[in-house]
Formats: sequence, structure tokens, C-alpha cells
Amino acid sequence: DCVVYWMRLEDMRIKDNRALAQASAQAQKDGIPLVVLFVLSPQDYIAHDRSARRIDFTLRNLRCIKDDLDKLDIPLYTATHTPRKQIPSFVHDLLLQWNASHVFGNIEYEVDELRRDLALCQIAKKHGKIACTFVHDKCIVPPGDVRTKDGRGYTVYSPFLRAWAPILDKTSSRHLDEAPLPAANDHSVRKHATFGKLFNAQVPSEVEGFSLDPEERERISTFWHAGEAAAHEMLYRFLNTAARPSQFGAVDPLTKGAKEVDPTKQSRLGKYKDARDLMDADTTSRISPYLAAGVISARACVREALKASGKKKLDVSRDTGVGRWIQELAWRDFYTHIVALFPRVSMGAALPGEAWKDGRTGVPIVDAAMRQARTMGWMHNRARMIAAMYLVKDLMIDWRLGEKYFMETLIDGDLASNNGGWQWSASTGVDPAPYFRIFNPYTQSQKTDPEGEYIRHFVPELAKVRGKDIHQPPLHLADKLGYPEPLVNHNEARQRAIHRYKNIGTK
Ligand code: FAD
Repeated sequence: DCVVYWMRLEDMRIKDNRALAQASAQAQKDGIPLVVLFVLSPQDYIAHDRSARRIDFTLRNLRCIKDDLDKLDIPLYTATHTPRKQIPSFVHDLLLQWNASHVFGNIEYEVDELRRDLALCQIAKKHGKIACTFVHDKCIVPPGDVRTKDGRGYTVYSPFLRAWAPILDKTSSRHLDEAPLPAANDHSVRKHATFGKLFNAQVPSEVEGFSLDPEERERISTFWHAGEAAAHEMLYRFLNTAARPSQFGAVDPLTKGAKEVDPTKQSRLGKYKDARDLMDADTTSRISPYLAAGVISARACVREALKASGKKKLDVSRDTGVGRWIQELAWRDFYTHIVALFPRVSMGAALPGEAWKDGRTGVPIVDAAMRQARTMGWMHNRARMIAAMYLVKDLMIDWRLGEKYFMETLIDGDLASNNGGWQWSASTGVDPAPYFRIFNPYTQSQKTDPEGEYIRHFVPELAKVRGKDIHQPPLHLADKLGYPEPLVNHNEARQRAIHRYKNIGTK
């Protein structure tokens, strides 16, 4: 007999993991071992445009998890399965084979994943041997708990935030509570005829169709170390250390050598309110790859941020670093609630999209952003907004092309946040930017990368351009340096976009 925790792509951690904690409590109560299962599903990764970087990160994290669970005598069994439609019966068969009495999992809110879990519940119910429990864990406040007066979900962020914060702030609120660590299995489980063998099962070294070439694997793993310790180190770096000038990813972003500073004033957190939009400095947390894969919980981020800034109560004010940062985490909740409450969002191409993807649009800030994505598998938030708005409004390309490309390229690819960001930029969907809000990429460039260091780093052919020309190099200079001419004239493109948006539905 055993209890199984089914770990998925978005909850890859042992600490503060609700389903794992509940599975452990059940195993303890029944006096039977706890087993952890992970099913790799290449067809789902194709269907959901998962990047090879994300899958490689998943495997690297799984290896760390296996080591950590090993110390607790808990086996991790990783299987690869196709076709994806049969995963529920595949999992059910495994559970029967292990004589499992109970399976626990954290809910994934996308339609395919909900259907998969529902199918497992139905099969299990028919056989009557295994109890299934799926719990909320991804968001700080679960979808469904933030409702308007007439019981509907919010589709606009500001009122959502106004309703979200008091829920967390209540003294009785358990939303930020840390889930306990799983208890160790009895050591004898290693000799058990069925479970003993599971300890020898290795995490696969790759998933077919999602492998990285050695150079890329090495580069990405230098930026993004795997494992919970790395995630917490990244958070610590944000909360307690200061950004060094012009440090945007060329160096190892972890804490090595960084000095502790006052988290209420000089740390990245302390300065976040004012410095968060600067693209030429490493001012944000860079925690998104870890949050997207669930290597750290969003609850832990809020708890630690409040602690570091000496706050006893929740702070979501725009006027403090910590408040502003928690507001960003609330955006993550908001977009995930949208996916959960409006399933069509997860059921859903053009040229010169290729030049955009290659970082060769002729607009330096856009190209730097797109090349940062290719090099690091990550982009600054402002970079995403500028690049997204440029694709949609200057180039008038369907935002879904950009949405797909980001998912395929970024290590933090997350359906909810990505879709939310794209629809905002395209002035569609819930809480969009007004259609006439069109970033001028050149002004944005001057504001967010005043000295042009970010551009020089990622667009090396412009490295020698001095002064303001870096933001918009004169054509003759660009030509000499082998840098492309702009695909469109921004002012004309802006007029075109406004005209088209204004006349939607009238022709
Ligand atoms: P910080 O500024 O330190 O913020 C902390 C955390 O808050 C982030 O890690 C993230 O989890 C959350 N957060 C911050 N801003 C947003 C936001 N606008 N929407 C939702 N959550 C937010 N984020 C992803 O995690 N995955 C994506 O696939 C993704 N795609 C995006 C696509 C577009 C077009 C846009 C405009 C934004 C997208 N974002 C996405 C949101 C945001 O750009 C990243 O979360 C952020 O840049 C990550 O850097 P950070 O961890 O240093 O952020």
C-alpha cells in the first residue's frame, strides 16, 4: 500500500507544497509509504508550445528533487508517456500496480490539464479503489475566492487587487501559511519488493524533441541554476542585495560576492518602486523561471518580502518597494484566475514576424529585447511590453504569433501570464491597454536604457555607437555597421494602428 503525490510541471518543489504536504499527512496517518510520481508528456509540451529550455529546466529540477527526496527515503518515479490522452489510465494503472489508496496533486488550471485530472477521478471512481484529491496551490489566493458583489470573477486588475489584498490581510487568513515539509518514510521502504526498485529509476536525461545543444544547455543553466536552494538564493539576492550598474545578465545572476544591504532602502526590493522599469540594470527579482516551474511558492515570496522589509501586515501600496513587488505577484494571480474562470483563453501567424523573432527589426531596443530572449531564455518585463507592443501595433501582426514565440523561447513560459501580457499589449482580452496607447520604442529606449548599455550588450554591432544615436541610429551609420533599416516608420505605423483599431467593426 502507499499514498502517491503526483508532481507536475508547475509545482516542482518539496518545501511549502500543499498537495505533497497533504499526501505526506495521509501516509503518516495510514502508516504507509509516500511515493512521488512525475509523468513527462511530450505531446502536451508540443501542444502547449513548451520551450526546450523549460523542459531542460524541468529535468534539471527533477534531479535535484530526486536527491532531496532520497534523503527522506521517498522514491521519485519519473515516467515518459504518450499519447497524452491516455495519461489518466496510465497513471491509474501505475497506482493499481503500487496498490495506492490515495493520490494527491496540485491543480493546474488550463483546460487540457483539468480534463486530464477529471478523467483520472472518473476512472478511479469507477474502479472504487483509489481516492483522488486535487488542491489549490499555484496562486496566493485561489481562483474563485476573489469575486465581485454579484459573484463573478474580476476581469479588470485594479478592482481585483482591491478585493484580493483584504482577503490576504484578514488575521484569520491562512493563505500565506507555509505547508509542512513531508515526513521521511521508514527506511525499510528501500527493501520493499515494489517500492525499493523505484529508488533506482533515473530521471531521463532528455525528452525527445526538446533537447538543447550542449552550448545552449550550458549557457542557460549558468543563468538559471536548478533546485530549490537556487530559487531561494535568487529571492535572497533580490531582497537583500543591491543591483550593480549595468549588470543585466552577462554575469552569473546569483548572489556570489554580493553584499547585504538594507532591504527597506538600497536593496533591489527597496528600490523596486523606482527602478523596476530600468532595463539597463538588474533591478528585478528574476524569480519568474522559478515561480513558473513552482520551484518556489508565491506564498514564500510574499512572506519573505514582508519579513525582509520589516512589515507585520500586508503591503500592496504603490509607494513602497515591497508593496509594488507584491502587486506584481498579484498580476500573476489575476492572470491565472482569468485562465481558470474563462477557459477559452487556453484554447486558442504572420511575416515580418521572422525579423522580430531574430531581433532584426531595425529598432535597437526591440532588437536588444528579442536577442535577450534568445540568449537568456528570459526578458525584462519592460522589454516584453515594448517588444510585444511593437509586434502588435507597429507591425500589425497577430499577437498570437508573439504569444507562441515567447512560450517557445522563454524559460518562464506560463500560459496565464504570457497570454495576459500579450492581450494587454494588443488591447484585447481582459483589462487591456487602451487601443491608442502605443509605445514609442525610441522614447521607451531613452527612458529605460538611458545610456544604451542594454542595447550595446545585446546588439553588439551597435557597441561602438555613442550618445543618443544608440536609440535610433541614423540610416547611413546603421548601414555601415551592418544593422538593418527599421521595418516601418514608427509615426506612420502609429497612425495606421489607431485608424485600424478605431474602425474595427465598422467595415
Ligand atoms: P519581478 O518584477 O521581480 O516580479 C516578480 C514576479 O511577479 C514575477 O516573477 C512574476 O511571477 C510576477 N509578475 C511580474 N509582472 C507580471 C505580469 N505583468 N504578469 C504576470 N505576472 C507578473 N511572466 C511569466 O512568468 N511567464 C511568461 O510567460 C510571461 N510572458 C509575458 C509576456 C508579455 C507580452 C508580457 C508583457 C509579460 C509577460 N510576463 C510573463 C510577465 C513579466 O514580464 C515577467 O513575469 C517578469 O518580467 C519576470 O521577471 P522578474 O521575475 O524579475 O519579475
